Amino acid sequence: MPATRPVWSDDETEAFRDLARTFLVKECAPNEERWNEQQHVDREIWNKAGELGLLCPSIPTEYGGGGGTFAHEAVLAEEQIRAMVGSLGTAVHSTIVAHYINGYGTEEQKHRWLPRLATGELVGAVAMTEPGTGSDLQSVKTKAIKTGDEYVIDGAKTFISNGLLANLVIVVAKTDPENAAKGISLVVVETDGLEGFSRGRVLKKIGQHGQDTAELFFDSVRVPADCLLGTEEGQGFIQLMQQLPQERLVLAVAAVAAIEETLSQTLRYTKDRHAFGKPVFAFQNTKFKLAEVATTARIARVFVDDCIVKHLNGELDVQTASMAKWWTTQMQCDVADECLQFFGGYGYMQEYPISRLYTDARIQKIYGGTNEIMKEIISRFL
Ligand SMILES: Cc1cc2nc3c(=O)[nH]c(=O)nc-3n(C[C@H](O)[C@H](O)[C@H](O)COP(=O)(O)OP(=O)(O)OC[C@H]3O[C@@H](n4cnc5c(N)ncnc54)[C@H](O)[C@@H]3O)c2cc1C
Repeated sequence: MPATRPVWSDDETEAFRDLARTFLVKECAPNEERWNEQQHVDREIWNKAGELGLLCPSIPTEYGGGGGTFAHEAVLAEEQIRAMVGSLGTAVHSTIVAHYINGYGTEEQKHRWLPRLATGELVGAVAMTEPGTGSDLQSVKTKAIKTGDEYVIDGAKTFISNGLLANLVIVVAKTDPENAAKGISLVVVETDGLEGFSRGRVLKKIGQHGQDTAELFFDSVRVPADCLLGTEEGQGFIQLMQQLPQERLVLAVAAVAAIEETLSQTLRYTKDRHAFGKPVFAFQNTKFKLAEVATTARIARVFVDDCIVKHLNGELDVQTASMAKWWTTQMQCDVADECLQFFGGYGYMQEYPISRLYTDARIQKIYGGTNEIMKEIISRFL
């Protein structure tokens, strides 16, 4: 927990933080272990989160959202880390999926989907990645071809967060397979009872065990033509690029919260655990390493707080968001590794939360655009 209230937060945001914390600690944390074992949260928890107003907090109230700002999304991301309940995929649902619809949907589409995302009737996912294509998004093979007043979708997606429970999937597909970026569109697919749609395995991962990451298959799936997000084909790549700073920032927010949480757990442990007649914290190596971690935590906090303020003012540029994503997630992994060491063998045990902070950290350098892609983007501005 940072010592002071972040510069971007006010009384109202802090009240939302209290609400989120109570929900996460009371309703989610006691189930987290079971969710990890079953590899997904209970479906009802989405509805509970919706009832409390924790879904779509920064979507306008006229579409059923909370009428807040990115500050609300940031607070929720932070509190999830602090409560150690990473299983509920609200960042994808609220911060990403709802914002595609809010940003590019027609009035009718916003009214059709956003209120149901806000209540948890719909659980959202975004399906970009395919078995053959990840970073190179322009090369997706999934097709959505307009046939009469429908789109016919064929393709396979993998690594999709919320993939088991989602019933609204934003599918990245080629409406014009002859074209690269210009051929890409986003198609919003409601999956309940949808013929030709199926889910594969919930994938077994080295961390984030309670997050349902799954494969999705589309076999001549037909959806009405008005499921194309927006009114024009070929806008998908631009729509994706425009939303990426917010997606990357929320990962950086989570990374900073994780660095702070890792530090505080390690301080508690090393001051309590004794070796050679003194606390582990008393060894110079421990003190110096944790002084370095505390410095990293402070720098990361100041940088990301500044990014949040910029984003709230509509001024966060692509390169700064990419810097925040790669640097904070790299630091998160480095800090988790350094700190786990101070727990000795206990750090390797699943019952010690530090082991989760370590394994859950690793994906942060990979999803949301890999850190190599972040550096590629930054280098274009140098
Ligand atoms: C737990 C989890 C959840 C995920 N959730 C989602 C989701 O909800 N929706 C979704 O669509 N996807 C999701 N993904 C997929 C994720 O976004 C991709 O794994 C990621 O974008 C990388 O793609 P890839 O795995 O195909 O790797 P590749 O693109 O094959 O990359 C392999 C390696 O090559 C490097 N590389 C590639 N291109 C370059 C380049 N130009 N320069 C330098 N290095 C390069 C990469 O950085 C990486 O190190 C998730 C993945 C995981 C593991």
